[in-house]
Amino acid sequence: MVRFLMENLGKSGCSIGDNFIKAVDCKRKISGGYVRGGGIMVCSNYMNMQDEVNQVLIHELIHAYDDCTAKNLNWANCAHHACSEIRAGHLSGDCHFKRELLRGYMKLRGHEQDCVKRRVMKSVMANPHCSETAAKDAMEAVWQTCYNDTRPFDRAP
Ligand SMILES: [Zn+2]
Repeated sequence: MVRFLMENLGKSGCSIGDNFIKAVDCKRKISGGYVRGGGIMVCSNYMNMQDEVNQVLIHELIHAYDDCTAKNLNWANCAHHACSEIRAGHLSGDCHFKRELLRGYMKLRGHEQDCVKRRVMKSVMANPHCSETAAKDAMEAVWQTCYNDTRPFDRAP
C-alpha cells in the first residue's frame, strides 16, 4: 500500500523529494505527521513494530495525496482537515478490527465508523483553528462525502 500510494503521488504530479519521509524523535506522544512542504515524519521513538510504521506511512501518505490533489485545500479549515482525516482513518485500516482489539475497544457493530470518528475528532481538535464543537460539526457535515471518497483506491482497501 505504501508503494501504491507513493506511485500515485508521483502520477498525480506531486513532488516527492528524496527526504520526503523522515524518521524523527518526537517529544509529543504522536505517531507521526505530515507537513506541507516538509513531507512525512514518523516518530521512531514511539514505533515498536514494522506494522506500526507502515500504518503511519499509509495514513500520512493519504494526507499528502489530499494536499496535492484537492484544489485549495486549507488545513486551517476544520471541514477540510476533517475530510482528510476521515479518508486517512478509513483507507489506512487504522480502525481494522484486529487493531481496535489491541487498543481494548471491543464493541463490534459499527465499530469501524465509531473508531474513525474518534480518531478524526482527536486530530481535528488538535488543530488550533478548531474547537471541539467546530470539529464535530465539520466532521458531521463532510462525513458522507469524504468517507465514500476512496481515491486513489477503487474502494476502501
Ligand atoms: Zn491524520
